[in-house]
Amino acid sequence: MTSLNLTHLSDVRTLVTQLGFHPSRALGQNFLVDGNILDILIDCAAVVPTDRVLEIGPGLGVVTEAILDRAQSVVAVEKDHRLYAYLREALAGYKQLELIQGDVLEVGIPALLARGVDKVVSNLPYSAGSRILMDLVCDANAPRGIVVTVQLEVAQRIVAEPGSKTYGLMGVWCQLHCDVALTKVISPNCFWPRPDVKSAIVVLERRESRLLSEAHEPLFYQLTRHAFQQRRKQLASCLAKAPPQLALDANAARELLVQVGAEPTARPEALTIEQWCRLTDRMASS
Ligand code: SAM
Repeated sequence: MTSLNLTHLSDVRTLVTQLGFHPSRALGQNFLVDGNILDILIDCAAVVPTDRVLEIGPGLGVVTEAILDRAQSVVAVEKDHRLYAYLREALAGYKQLELIQGDVLEVGIPALLARGVDKVVSNLPYSAGSRILMDLVCDANAPRGIVVTVQLEVAQRIVAEPGSKTYGLMGVWCQLHCDVALTKVISPNCFWPRPDVKSAIVVLERRESRLLSEAHEPLFYQLTRHAFQQRRKQLASCLAKAPPQLALDANAARELLVQVGAEPTARPEALTIEQWCRLTDRMASS
């Protein structure tokens, strides 16, 4: 347990100086130094005493300590061995904490989730935030809730609605599995060192019922990836020029699009998640 208040910039500077540590830009080390934002993040996470929580990138432990007081157990994965060594000592009093040193993408998100995770609560590093999030959301053992801070631009893509410029693969894949909300835009001043961009808290809650059967998910991913790679093309011609496993002749493509309530001349960003799912189901059974 630390006696420092890590939401105070002066305490964080003191600690970092004592550790002889220089925050790494490559590792996205922008520490949260704002008590209000920490409170909002923790409120959004609504951790209860039965929750098994995963934190990615605990840094100096400001979020970790707040979750430890509420959760049944916390697994925290930190890539930076200096921060890992510091946290091992600073948080040694918490028996419900398991610290892992390593790159979360190498440790493997599937392996971490297979152990049973109810919630993920993290201030994600900018560099790997999108990749980490997609691995979390699309996993068969995905958690019930994910509450993370990410770059604002990434948050906007996660919650994007059909027809908007930001609507693309990230939004479609996240919204296939989760109800999503952008709950707070965060000023760069809430972090130290101050990043160049704004951030946001996003909340992703696993949908209670599936929009698509698990068996059809691979086809959904292939289809949407192909379509959004050519987002300027009309859907009917996009499907007619798809790889063999997706390709339809132009008439069949037009017919399927009409069946799911879409205009054959529409572009990929016009389809709702439900329409993408219906299209996948019909292609799977055609
Ligand atoms: N949780 C702390 C906070 O809110 O102040 C630190 C957040 S900081 C934005 C991101 C943290 O993720 C850093 O501690 C960084 O070392 C760690 N990190 C970066 N890439 C990582 C990766 N691939 N796997 C695990 N940790 C990583």
